[in-house]
Amino acid sequence: MEMDTIAAIATPMGEGSIAVIRVSGSQSIEIVDKIYRGKHKLSTVDTHTIHYGKIIDPETDEVIEEVLVSVMKAPKTFTREDVVEVSCHGGLMSVQRVLELILNAGARLAEPGEFTKRAFLNGRIDLAQAEAVMDFIRSKTDRAMKVAFSQVEGKLSRLIRALRQHLLEAMAHIEVTLDYPEHDVEAVTHNFLLGKCEEVQSEIHRLLQTAKQGKILREGLSTAIVGKPNVGKSSLLNSLVQEEKAIVTDVAGTTRDVIEEYVNVRGVPLHLIDTAGIRETEDIVEKIGVEKSRRILQQADLVLLVLNYNEPLTSEDYAIFEAVQGLNVIVIVNKTDLPQHLDLDEVKKHFPQQPLVMTSAKQETGIDQLEEAIAHIFFTGRAGQEDLTYVSNARHIHLLRQAEQTVQDAIRGIEEQMPIDMVQIDIKRAWELLGEVIGESAGEDLLDQIFSQFCLGK
Ligand code: GDP
Repeated sequence: MEMDTIAAIATPMGEGSIAVIRVSGSQSIEIVDKIYRGKHKLSTVDTHTIHYGKIIDPETDEVIEEVLVSVMKAPKTFTREDVVEVSCHGGLMSVQRVLELILNAGARLAEPGEFTKRAFLNGRIDLAQAEAVMDFIRSKTDRAMKVAFSQVEGKLSRLIRALRQHLLEAMAHIEVTLDYPEHDVEAVTHNFLLGKCEEVQSEIHRLLQTAKQGKILREGLSTAIVGKPNVGKSSLLNSLVQEEKAIVTDVAGTTRDVIEEYVNVRGVPLHLIDTAGIRETEDIVEKIGVEKSRRILQQADLVLLVLNYNEPLTSEDYAIFEAVQGLNVIVIVNKTDLPQHLDLDEVKKHFPQQPLVMTSAKQETGIDQLEEAIAHIFFTGRAGQEDLTYVSNARHIHLLRQAEQTVQDAIRGIEEQMPIDMVQIDIKRAWELLGEVIGESAGEDLLDQIFSQFCLGK
């Protein structure tokens, strides 16, 4: 497939010490050569080498930038095309000048996601991997990044391919029995198909069970911190934030506000919902009423309920208890450095099943246990934390659910001794649905839609 040469700024817009312009396509070396002056012409250098030089405006001979140029020839590149990356170290203005010169020299401005799309079209990565590139860019914690990266590397894709292989074998077996019915040993076919389908079904089921964790890694565990004024909510939050230094990765297009909404607890991103409101309101429960506060709290995957060890329970506490009933609550008893006035048995009576953590934000005790309790909520039911095949993408989850249902239909068909060509239809459908996850049967519209969500330059 012959495609034109595209270029875009690949690093986030804004102030930075370097910015990279990526050029991909069969003309990329020739195009950059037109505006590059260095020791060697780029067309003569070895592949995968870096060169110092200057970018000049060929019309005026004016020097625009001092640059390092990486030359990477096909096929061992991200797009499998010739790729040139120009690292500029001036400000945004000069980077844009360099990009303009590259465009004038014959490249076309890339559409969002077009580099990744080419990697996909040229067969270097499949669709699930391409989508993982986007997750990787947007990931909020190290752990989310690792998961995305394992998908970029193709972990999910390999699993999907293995499942499709099972279904393919089942289909082949059916073809043979249909073509040579005289060879069919019914019991053998029955067991073979059932075995294949059940294996596929249980694997899909297992994958779907990771969807909740996957979603949390992508979007954060929405968390509300509630409690009376002055019980230490802000102090606890600060302790959690201090525990880890790098809160999130810097993501193009996100503001500081958004970034600061995330607190990374042992790799689990907590997305703090409306905590500002809850913290600043004198008494959220009385002011806006139990109903409204409950509605806010309903959005929470996790509620951190903070109580004061140094004070008896009041009607405000009871109102909050009522508002958080039935939610996923961790009870935090703070200020344990002060004398006890809180009736702990009474608290436990209201929250018999929920974890209770004793802390002192002042002396920084109990923070570890709090983190442990939060991480436990995330990892319940998951043994190996390093097993990184999570599904998190809504499109994948939707397809996997449909595939699971279809395989289930096939299993029922086999068990009820339905005609084998009817079972064949379900198995083929499941095989197609799984194919859509990795883009093997994806239409052009879907591809455009997926790739248009990417950042420019990716
Ligand atoms: P918030 O209104 O619930 O957010 O409470 P703050 O975090 O603002 O804390 C209220 C006051 O309690 C501040 O003066 C804190 O320094 C103090 N405080 C918070 N946690 C503790 C603690 O564990 N022990 C003691 N002795 N004081 C605390």
